[in-house]
Amino acid sequence: MTPNFSFEITHQDKKTNARVGIIKTRSGNIETPYLVPIATRAEIISLSKEDISAISPQAILANTYHLHFLSPGDKEIKKLGGLHKFMNFSKPIFTDSGGFQALSLGFGRTTRLRKIGFFPGKNEIKTDNKEKTFVTLKDDGILFKSVYDETEKFMGPKESMQIQSNLGSEIIMAFDQCNPPGQTEEETKKSMEISHKWELESLKHKNPEQALYGIIHGGAYPNLRVESCKFISSLSFEGIAIGGSLGKTKKEMYFLLDGIISNLKEADKKPRHMLGIGWVDDLFECVERGMDTFDCVHTTRLARHGGLYISPKEEGNQKNKYHIKIRKIKHASENKPIDSWCDCSTCKSYSRKDLHNLCRIKNPQYAKLATIHNISFMEKLMKEIRDSIKENRFQELKSYWLQK
Ligand SMILES: [Zn+2]
Repeated sequence: MTPNFSFEITHQDKKTNARVGIIKTRSGNIETPYLVPIATRAEIISLSKEDISAISPQAILANTYHLHFLSPGDKEIKKLGGLHKFMNFSKPIFTDSGGFQALSLGFGRTTRLRKIGFFPGKNEIKTDNKEKTFVTLKDDGILFKSVYDETEKFMGPKESMQIQSNLGSEIIMAFDQCNPPGQTEEETKKSMEISHKWELESLKHKNPEQALYGIIHGGAYPNLRVESCKFISSLSFEGIAIGGSLGKTKKEMYFLLDGIISNLKEADKKPRHMLGIGWVDDLFECVERGMDTFDCVHTTRLARHGGLYISPKEEGNQKNKYHIKIRKIKHASENKPIDSWCDCSTCKSYSRKDLHNLCRIKNPQYAKLATIHNISFMEKLMKEIRDSIKENRFQELKSYWLQK
C-alpha cells in the first residue's frame, strides 16, 4: 500500500449503494463521485492551460500509450519533472495502462467492431480494405506500432508500470488485455486469464509511490465477471476498476454491474473506477450502484462534433442524450444560452445563435467554447450528485434527471 494514498467514505446513501468519498493523494483530494476529464496527450483538446485552470477540475486522466509514443515521450517528461510540471497541473492525475489501445488500434479496426457500431464518429474509422493493424498480441504483452511514425515498441506489464512511473501520475491502472464486444465465452475467458496474469505482474513492478487499480474483466459473461471480481479484489490493489465490454445494452451493463458490486465485499473500502463510461444516465445508474469515479471521452468529443449538453430544465432527457446538436438550423435564431442551469463562462457570454454560427463557419473558438461548456456542465452535475447523496435525496435527483 502506498503511503500517499487513501480513500474514505464520508456519506453513504440510506436507500441505495451511492456514496460520497474522498480520495487523498500527495497532490490533493478528489471528492467522489467524480467524472475525470480526459487529457489524452497531456492536454484537454481545444483548451489552454488557463482554460483548464478556470474550470478547475479535481483531477484529469492522461493516456500512457500516447504519451509514450508521442514526442517528447515519458522519459523526457520525467526529466522535465513529470506530468504535473509538463502540464502545469498540480492536482491528482490518473493514467491508464495502454492496454485499451490494443482494442482501439487493433481489434477496433476490424469490420466486426465497425459493424456493431462500437466506435461512434464516422470520421475516425478508415473504411478502405488496406487498413493497417497497429498491434500484435503476445503472451507477455503487446507489440505496438506507433500511429505517429510506425516505429515498433513492446509494452507488457513491466513496461507499462515503468512508463506510468516516469509520468509520475498519482493513480495508475494495471496493464490488461481489453476484450472487444461480441467475443465468445471461451475467447473472453482466455483474455481475462491473460489480463489477470498481467495485472499480477503489474503489482510486482509498480512504483510504490503510486496507487495501482486492478481491473475487473470478464466481458458480458456474469460468471466470468464474478471470477474476475473475486481474483482482483483479493489482491493488494489500492483501487478497483471495471473494464472491457459490458454487453450490448444499458440494461445488460447495469445487470453485470449489480453482480460485480455484490461480489466486491472484500474490497468494499477501496475506490471504484468505471473505465470509459460517462453519459448522464449511466452516471446516475452507476453511482446508485456504488461507483466512485469515471472517465469518458464523450464529454469533449461530443462538444467538438457539435453536441452541447443540456439539463432537464432545457428538455435534456434520455432520448436526446442530454444534448442539442448546435449545427441544426433551429438554433440559428435562438438568442439564449445553451443551458439555463449551467453557469459556465460560455453560457454566461454566448448564445446558442453565436455558437451555431461559430460551429457552422468552423471557427476554432467554437471547439474551445463548446468544450468549456460540456466539461463545466459535467463538473456541476457531479457536484449536484455528491450534494444529493450527502442530503439523502439522491433518488429524487436521479428521478428528476432520468424522467421519461
Ligand atoms: Zn455552460
